[in-house]
Amino acid sequence: MALSLARICMKRVLPNARNTFQTISSSLRQSSNSTQNATSACRLPADYLSPEEQMMKDSVARLCTEKIQQHVAEMDETSHIKPEVIQCLFDNGLMGIEIPAEYGGTNSSFFVSTLVIEELAKVDPSVSVCCDVQNTLINMLFIKLGSAQQKEKYLPRLASDMLSSFCLSEAESGSDAFSLRTTAVQKGDDFIINGTKCWITNAEHAGVFLVMANAKPADGYKGITCFIVDRGTPGLTVGKKEDKLGLRASSTCSVTFEDVKVPSSNIIGEFGKGYKYAIEMLNGGRIGIAAQMLGLAQGCFNQAVNYTYERKQFGKRIFDFQAMQHQIAQVATQIHLGRVMMCNAARRHQMGLPVIKEAAMAKYFASEVATLATSKSIEWMGGVGFTKAYPVEKFYRDCKIGTIYEGTSNIQLNTIAKCLEQEKWSGH
Ligand SMILES: Cc1cc2nc3c(=O)[nH]c(=O)nc-3n(C[C@H](O)[C@H](O)[C@H](O)COP(=O)(O)OP(=O)(O)OC[C@H]3O[C@@H](n4cnc5c(N)ncnc54)[C@H](O)[C@@H]3O)c2cc1C
Repeated sequence: MALSLARICMKRVLPNARNTFQTISSSLRQSSNSTQNATSACRLPADYLSPEEQMMKDSVARLCTEKIQQHVAEMDETSHIKPEVIQCLFDNGLMGIEIPAEYGGTNSSFFVSTLVIEELAKVDPSVSVCCDVQNTLINMLFIKLGSAQQKEKYLPRLASDMLSSFCLSEAESGSDAFSLRTTAVQKGDDFIINGTKCWITNAEHAGVFLVMANAKPADGYKGITCFIVDRGTPGLTVGKKEDKLGLRASSTCSVTFEDVKVPSSNIIGEFGKGYKYAIEMLNGGRIGIAAQMLGLAQGCFNQAVNYTYERKQFGKRIFDFQAMQHQIAQVATQIHLGRVMMCNAARRHQMGLPVIKEAAMAKYFASEVATLATSKSIEWMGGVGFTKAYPVEKFYRDCKIGTIYEGTSNIQLNTIAKCLEQEKWSGH
């Protein structure tokens, strides 16, 4: 197996740079609820990158150019992510970014996960979401809540060769996620799971599914429990892929559970706490989607602006028209603002500070920015922007999902409003 890109980065950094990273990340990890440390960390701008973070970002950008870029159009055309692209993510340590080294992971931080998601999205948002779900949802659940045996069994595979899926949504429960109908009935030491999950990212290739099922419907959402279900388990069927507007290379399938039997040792965390875990994980997940949307916006913007430097009309570059420059400057400002919000939310999340409002704001705003940037990019390129000769039309299609998954924009706004009201009552 090729040496992990992330590990190469760790080796290549100057001793001082490495110390700086270790100091920052270990103080970020340890500080959790320490206001004193939070205050000192605030001396750095939110979007400041340590030398190691910068190196990681640059290395992923290089990897995208050398190993991913050439497959993007074909993967979109065929609606199929190439196995070598998935394996390339694994081989370079990008699928187990926060997984501790003892399990074969990269042992890095949540913030670095967002940098990787962002860089991948600059080239292909489908590849980016594959990495996002694995790192911000699945790996985090195992790292934070897994038993010793669960970690031993799953983390090394998640870091090296096994994709995974997070199964919450159902046909009748999307925004109202906790009204889910999938049940888990206890029989002795086993649970029997029945139900159908919809819209499940990575399902085509996933080796393991984390499934939210209600194991005590009488208790309402407090019966929701999170189960680990291996792909080969009898009764589990992956449905056909959705034929989507964008993110076409990312598989999105239904997953049906018909009398699927799992031992109680496959519960992750505590019985009845699934709703709580889903809410907590989705805070990190939303920051990941914000990173995806900002990478997408930047990738599209770069293509379009480069075009304006070359295309000439009325005897000069179209970039030289002030009307063009003002629009370009406005979009650049929006992308920068979204990035600062995303970085701030990611740093807060990594430090264990409250982040519900910031995560919702970052995701909501980033998906608005991606919508604006991709739409404007097509306009700036005129007719060719509307064709498949350039990647901007794909970015335009891909960006729409940002306002839908991991909570629609309305749901983010509901969350932000709820936080504002709570702040009012708590005197902020
Ligand atoms: C490509 C893709 C990948 C996905 N991946 C996954 C995955 O891996 N795992 C998973 O579990 N799910 C996944 N999802 C599901 C996704 O999270 C849901 O689609 C999303 O939460 C919205 O649910 P819904 O589609 O049922 O829309 P609905 O909930 O039916 O919403 C429809 C409209 O009603 C609005 N609305 C609903 N309730 C309110 C309210 N209270 N206030 C204001 N407006 C409201 C919404 O904002 C939206 O505009 C994925 C979806 C897609 C399309």
